[in-house]
Amino acid sequence: MKKISILGSTGSIGVQSLDVARMHKFDIRALAANSSTAVLEKQAREFNPAKVCIFNKEYYNDLRLRLADTDITILTGMDGLCEIAADSDTDIVLNSVVGMVGLLPTLTAINAGNDVALANKETLVAGGNLVMNAAKTKNVNIYPVDSEHSAIFQCLQGNSMNRINKIILTASGGPFFSKKKEELSDVTVEQALNHPNWSMGNKITIDSATLMNKGLEFIEAKWLFDLEPDQIEIIVHRQSVLHSAVEFEDFSVIGQMGFPDMRIPIQYALMYPERTACPTKRLSLTDFAKLTFEKPDYETFDCLSACIGAVKAGGAYPCIANAANEEAVRMFLDRKISFLRIGELVTQAVSHFDYTELTCYEDVIDIDKKAREYVISNVTKGDEAAVCK
Ligand code: MN
Repeated sequence: MKKISILGSTGSIGVQSLDVARMHKFDIRALAANSSTAVLEKQAREFNPAKVCIFNKEYYNDLRLRLADTDITILTGMDGLCEIAADSDTDIVLNSVVGMVGLLPTLTAINAGNDVALANKETLVAGGNLVMNAAKTKNVNIYPVDSEHSAIFQCLQGNSMNRINKIILTASGGPFFSKKKEELSDVTVEQALNHPNWSMGNKITIDSATLMNKGLEFIEAKWLFDLEPDQIEIIVHRQSVLHSAVEFEDFSVIGQMGFPDMRIPIQYALMYPERTACPTKRLSLTDFAKLTFEKPDYETFDCLSACIGAVKAGGAYPCIANAANEEAVRMFLDRKISFLRIGELVTQAVSHFDYTELTCYEDVIDIDKKAREYVISNVTKGDEAAVCK
């Protein structure tokens, strides 16, 4: 039985990973969360890990007191996440933290020789070349947890990489599919948080509404599967039944389908290559009157165009797009900017900076910081006045 550590165990992916762990009686080596001490305590008592980490140091004492009667080692901060990532008694680190914070733990796990189940897509968007080079050097496996990338990974099993024409990345289209820009000017936080098919954390739900999520996944796919941007086609598939597909050189297209439930890709990443029962509903195709496939609207969903532009431009641009989006989404959720400003700010940030290469972790952190500062400096008093509350 593999020993598994979960970074981000109280988030949506983390909780679903523990559903899978409960069903298959996985050996949980460590758990880490940002600030949810009560949930983390409950998880620690159920799964009895050797180590837990609360990332936000303000909650360290609270967690320490809660688990005082156990012999679990309590860690905190980035040092704590990295200690878990590098733990030599771990086989696979599931990284499901939100945002750029996930990059250092991913690199640390890889450098320690631990396989990574990657649910933190920002990691590959911001530091794709660093992560993939490190994984190659250390001979470490990166298993995709994102449903689309898991689908592609599953379609590639038994097929040689040099026979791919392209991958077909499916997008649900989010809650605002078929809307035009002028209809989206007064979108509220509550409307943007209401996703039709998937129940997820706030950041990724907003990213799904802007289609930034698909832009990030486009970049993620480029790195994971070593593709050129023109080998990635995005199609809108409203029902989220076909999770993505691969077209091979003979024009055969192989896709992966399943009930839209993240526990299927999570389990595949953690149990690869084994397939066994999963705690999810089974797909019944006749429950769906029809499956539809359409082209995305790149003009309305300009985050998507910005990401594709960024990956084609190369260098630090994907990192800039990601950082700009993280700040813009934070400000949208804080009701400081309107919904459409997210795409504008990401687009502006990508076009503002000169080309630079990312050769080390410090380069990534540096350009990430500059992009965030640029976005914040672009927000005006008029922005807050234009927010629909
Ligand atoms: Mn996805």
